Amino acid sequence: MDPLARGRTEGDFLTGLEDCRAGCAFFDFCRGAQAANRYFENGSLTTTETNYCRVSRQALVTALSTLATTEKGQAA
Ligand code: SF4
Repeated sequence: MDPLARGRTEGDFLTGLEDCRAGCAFFDFCRGAQAANRYFENGSLTTTETNYCRVSRQALVTALSTLATTEKGQAA
């Protein structure tokens, strides 16, 4: 790969990763990334949210959080 293109690709990836870190409530669990999904779903490595992360990260954390909250409420 052309070194300039490679640097641009890495920079785009890091831009998306930093946007995930700055703007997503699920980052502590997910840690961003999902590069292939960003590229093939959204057409750019600079993007953040994808269908993949919604169903494999966000839905999982939301469901577990809801379950923990529900069980905690039932135990009281
Ligand atoms: S859940 Fe999606 S938007 Fe949030 S940090 Fe992970 S990849 Fe980024």
